[in-house]
Amino acid sequence: MIPIAKPLIGREEENAVLEVLRSGHVVQGKKVEQLEQEFARVCCTKYAIAVSNGTTALHSALAAMGVKPGDEVITSPFTFVASASCILMQGAKVVFADIKKDTFNIDPESVINKITEETKAIVPVDLYGQAYDYDAIKKIAEKNELFILEDACQAINASLNGKMCGSLGDMAAFSLYATKNVISGEGGIVTTDNEEFAEKLRRIRNHGQFERYDYGMLGYNYRMTDIIAAIGVEQMRKLNSFTDARIKNAEFFNKELSEVEGLRLPFIKPNAKHVYHQYTIVVEDSCKVSRDELVKHLRDKGIGCGIYYPKPLHLHPMYLKMGYKEGDFPVAEEMSKRVISLPVHPGLNDNDRKKIVQEIKNICL
Ligand SMILES: *Cc1c(COP(=O)(O)O)cnc(C)c1O
Repeated sequence: MIPIAKPLIGREEENAVLEVLRSGHVVQGKKVEQLEQEFARVCCTKYAIAVSNGTTALHSALAAMGVKPGDEVITSPFTFVASASCILMQGAKVVFADIKKDTFNIDPESVINKITEETKAIVPVDLYGQAYDYDAIKKIAEKNELFILEDACQAINASLNGKMCGSLGDMAAFSLYATKNVISGEGGIVTTDNEEFAEKLRRIRNHGQFERYDYGMLGYNYRMTDIIAAIGVEQMRKLNSFTDARIKNAEFFNKELSEVEGLRLPFIKPNAKHVYHQYTIVVEDSCKVSRDELVKHLRDKGIGCGIYYPKPLHLHPMYLKMGYKEGDFPVAEEMSKRVISLPVHPGLNDNDRKKIVQEIKNICL
């Protein structure tokens, strides 16, 4: 079985965890600080604040922005649930905007149509590891005085026009979940250049405390432990080699699959560095088989492909109840029926790559 994702954990991570355990200081401390410095360095931001996971990173960022009941926040329906549920956690209204067919990222034109007096922020997602269209979205945000929270959970080390993902908004959220490009099991990071936001985030993750037992604002326990951070620090040392391996795997697929009729391969924007959290292709009508037939064939042959995402968020019960319905976001709906993601992680070997390509050709050619 070739899994769709595989955490690569070595002796370095094992030793780093042991070192923390033996030090007796297991809660948030030096290792967390070190991990924060690494993220700030890689993302070219002034600050990075570690939290317990990607979802709490998104939530604490919206809390720091002051998003509140009555506010509206615009995001994509074609993403992981947390990009939208973080908005509900602040009691605000989730307003979806459709995506673009080529990049799967939020469509600036669609965003413009969703802006009202109540709109407070936009949460664009760097889906699959490619930066969202920050130029267009930033213009919209500036004109309408909106904050941008970049959901960069899939995009560590990605960039567009030389600007790093994680620095493409007022704040950005990362996840270190076990399937992401760098992992710590669970873990999250918020990056920002804004000192006031950074200060608020440090309070929000620690019960809203200004000083110990001085609760200046509503906060949570969203802290990260040094045990977890130690894994993250070692993974960050391997970030470039992990990223290069993903890109190499993707280039192999691009070359080998280009001859297959009816498969649309990933579109890379000019000047973009795509880090292939997922290598996602679209099965067009002209393909010999349907998406679901292709998925079944690959899984039968021991290739763990994935569908991200099988149903857009607005068609889940929670959002249907708010009045969303089938047909609201035609591009997201169509893509959810056509996408398939192939294993592209750094754990693939030459045989794995060849087998994936061969099995696709066996059924599609
Ligand atoms: C993984 C992910 C999250 C959530 O991160 P967790 O660490 O699992 O909470 C949010 N948004 C996107 C786009 C993700 O891929």
